[in-house]
Amino acid sequence: MKAVRFHQHGGPEVLCYEDAPDPDIAPGEALVRVRACALNHLDLWGRRGLPGIRIPMPHITGSDVAGDVVSSPAAEIPAGRRVMLQPGVSCGRCLACLEGRDNECPGYEVLGYVNHPGGYAEYVKVPVRNLIPIPDEIDYVQAAAFPLTFLTAWHMLLTRAKLQRGEDVLVLAAGSGVGQAAIQIALMHGARVFATAGSADKLERARALGASWAIDHHRQDIAEEIKRLTNKRGVDVVIEHVGEATWARSVRALARGGRLVTCGATTGSNGALNLSALFSKQLSILGSYMGTKGELLRAAQFFFAGRLKPVVDATFPLHNAANAHRRMEESGQFGKIVLEVP
Ligand SMILES: [Zn+2]
Repeated sequence: MKAVRFHQHGGPEVLCYEDAPDPDIAPGEALVRVRACALNHLDLWGRRGLPGIRIPMPHITGSDVAGDVVSSPAAEIPAGRRVMLQPGVSCGRCLACLEGRDNECPGYEVLGYVNHPGGYAEYVKVPVRNLIPIPDEIDYVQAAAFPLTFLTAWHMLLTRAKLQRGEDVLVLAAGSGVGQAAIQIALMHGARVFATAGSADKLERARALGASWAIDHHRQDIAEEIKRLTNKRGVDVVIEHVGEATWARSVRALARGGRLVTCGATTGSNGALNLSALFSKQLSILGSYMGTKGELLRAAQFFFAGRLKPVVDATFPLHNAANAHRRMEESGQFGKIVLEVP
């Protein structure tokens, strides 16, 4: 098959469009012809390399896949069925998996990150339980743009932060995959949303997506703006994934009893915390990683009904994956960047 692989860590130029062996199917696995694969920040981390994480080379990245089933051990999802894939791969047998917390499985892995070859290819294999059939009216690009970020934002807002109707939510970086998903999910659950973005165009798009206020995180102090807009109260929930660059202001933006949920640290992993503020304001700092298979199926019901709609920034053909990575690294995008596989 054709695939985009990297043989060493580095910049976008290490992504090679080349021939690669077809996936070897084991019992219980399905083979899928990839039609679209969305980018995530994880793709960049994997390509650049991270200390302590050894990725077998050559490697095929890509966690968000939509395509057609080629072969499957499940009679109810036969060859030819259009599907999107659960991006989380877990053992299916441990306590966490059997209690429905598969993203806490000791063997949990994200498709395309380390040991499971991903979707930058014509074919990908996954455990059959990772197949999610999609309705005819959802196209492959939309379907590929949905799973990872909507799952992540769903788990952050509803499972970790336990968002209540009427609460105020601050979403950082509205133009990111998690940002656009979090805005939609928070609104759907009756929250008022404040969003940040880094350009006039993105601020406008954040408002168009339903944010009541959009704050320019390059020109304005996020915490000061939130205090001003909420009559000094602060927000109930902060959706954080930026890290060092915004951490202190994100914490300061919290109201008494507020919850900050973080799923990423794209600008760095070190954040200071004022412990006096933590206990006296009864704040909660919550980590979040992906989400469960059940949560993705729940979110997908709203996607299939047209109530959640991933924002697609741009599409690139698979062989142009390096340029797609460059677009993501320049942070110019609003929404998901998706590779199409002809
Ligand atoms: Zn498990």
